[in-house]
Amino acid sequence: MPRRLRFLPILTLLVALLALSGVVAHRLALQFGLAELQTTGLHRLELYAASLEREIGKYAFLPGTLGLERDVLALLGPQGDHQLAPQVNTYLEQLNERAGTLAIYVIDTTGRVVAASNWRRADSFVGENLAFRPYFREAMESGSGRFFGVGTTRGEPGYYLASTLSDERQTLGVAVIKVSLEQLEKSWTTVEAPAMVSDENGVVILGSVADWKFTTLRPLDEATRSAFDQTQQYNRRALTPLGIKELRELGHGARLVSIAKERPEMASVYPVAGRFLAQSRPLPGTPWTLTVLSHLEQVDDIAQSRAAVAVVVAALLFMFALMANERRRHLKDRLAAREALQQAHDELERKVDARTADLSNANQQLQDEVAERIRAERTLRAAQDELVQAGKLAVIGQLSTGIAHELNQPLAALRTLSGNGMRFLERGDIETTRANLQRIAQLVDRMGLITGQLRTFARKSSGQRQPVPLAQALDNSLALLEPRLRQNNVEVRRDCPAPGPVALCDPNRLEQVLINLIGNALDAMEGQPAPCLELGCAVAGDQARLTVRDHGPGLDEAALGHLFEPFFTTKQAGAGLGLGLAISAGIVGDFGGTLSGANHPDGGAVFTLDIPLCDEVADHE
Ligand code: ADP
Repeated sequence: MPRRLRFLPILTLLVALLALSGVVAHRLALQFGLAELQTTGLHRLELYAASLEREIGKYAFLPGTLGLERDVLALLGPQGDHQLAPQVNTYLEQLNERAGTLAIYVIDTTGRVVAASNWRRADSFVGENLAFRPYFREAMESGSGRFFGVGTTRGEPGYYLASTLSDERQTLGVAVIKVSLEQLEKSWTTVEAPAMVSDENGVVILGSVADWKFTTLRPLDEATRSAFDQTQQYNRRALTPLGIKELRELGHGARLVSIAKERPEMASVYPVAGRFLAQSRPLPGTPWTLTVLSHLEQVDDIAQSRAAVAVVVAALLFMFALMANERRRHLKDRLAAREALQQAHDELERKVDARTADLSNANQQLQDEVAERIRAERTLRAAQDELVQAGKLAVIGQLSTGIAHELNQPLAALRTLSGNGMRFLERGDIETTRANLQRIAQLVDRMGLITGQLRTFARKSSGQRQPVPLAQALDNSLALLEPRLRQNNVEVRRDCPAPGPVALCDPNRLEQVLINLIGNALDAMEGQPAPCLELGCAVAGDQARLTVRDHGPGLDEAALGHLFEPFFTTKQAGAGLGLGLAISAGIVGDFGGTLSGANHPDGGAVFTLDIPLCDEVADHE
């Protein structure tokens, strides 16, 4: 998904969230603001009503007090003493001045003004008939009357407070005090919000905003208007509507209203147009209603600023949430990576453990195998030793005929010599007897030599390596083969100049190899008229070399291929086992040397034996 599209849902969500929080905050702030405004308004309403009542109360008792004036009562009496009129007029004038009221006057029961504070003025009430005025009628009916109205004479709006005056027997007339509205409004000079008093007709009669006076809060029908004409209540004032419109009822006499900005801008300390919270209550003792208007501008401002703050806070929270989410994801990734790493580590450790176990198994197997190999080698070596010994005994067997023949001759000679010796002794021929005995001793020595050599050869060798002069080994071997060589008339050519090379090996086994090689050579030349055996010893590099060459038929193809294989033989059954060369090669191999067989260019086979030179001897040389 393209990056732009990926962020689209988040962006939409953000916008929705911001709008929602803005709206909610605005609503709440408005509600709180309104509630607060309502409390303040209610407070003001009570305060303004109380001060207004106090102001009216100040004058309420004034008309009644006129009944205490005897002159007034006398003037009104059935035989009205008209001479008292100037006196009462002056009294009323003075009282009016002192009380600060607009006018004070007394009316007789017919409605005619008999005395008035304004008696001096041309437009004085004196003589006027005010029987049509509601306050008069009201007072005549109930004892007191109150009325708001515009004066018929001077067109001055005022509050009329009327009270009947009577003696012990009858009602004599009505005393009236007219209080200016300004006087009542005095109590409102310090109000903080626009307030107004509307009469029973919905006409504003008192207001902290001058321009609102004589405006109507509700439309007037024709009948009402004509009634006004009759009572001259508003003295033909225009009575234009204020232009107040109710928006919403809020309960507890509170309403949301708006005042249109139709009228020309006027100087006022309060806002006079816009939305207001209007709270009203009736004024006790009057049919009037006091209304306090609290402008909503401030609440609106606060609500708007709270909404703005809420939007900013929501945006911040959203950003924090995004960051937290990002961080959580990052942490999750890290945890996953760590877990993967741990798993890989565990897996590796498991593998290493398995491999180690395999290795130790393999190691164990290897050790077992080595031990097995060593055991096998020992067994092999034992078998080889046995084989060597067997081979040696076989050689002895082959040699035995010759040796027996060799021993027979001296034995026969001994017999003859000893027989002759006795005869010579009987004859007293001491000299001949001594010579015979010497000969016997020589023969015995020779026989001892032969049997000694045989015994030496036959004994089981120690396997210990030692310096062996090749010439000596050759001598010993030839000594053992001596009877056969002589029997076959073999010519032995020795090319072994003294002192000759010294090899490091087991002499007994070297002799066994030489006897084998020479024996094979003699076998190969069997039946030849002049067999010739060539033996050589030399030094080749760091090896002592022995060569045995015969002049027989040489080695054929098959023999060259299988010469050193056990049981390879071309000899007749009983004549050979085919083990001689195999054993010899094994012995030479043990010495650290080599044995090879080949055909000599001039005919016959030649076997070459290379054995390591003895260093000591070599050094000595
Ligand atoms: P064996 O003598 O019992 O046959 P060897 O291992 O000594 O066993 O010899 C194996 C064979 O090698 C002989 O049978 C023979 O065929 C051949 N051989 C050994 N030496 C010679 C030699 N000098 N000339 C010809 N053939 C030989």
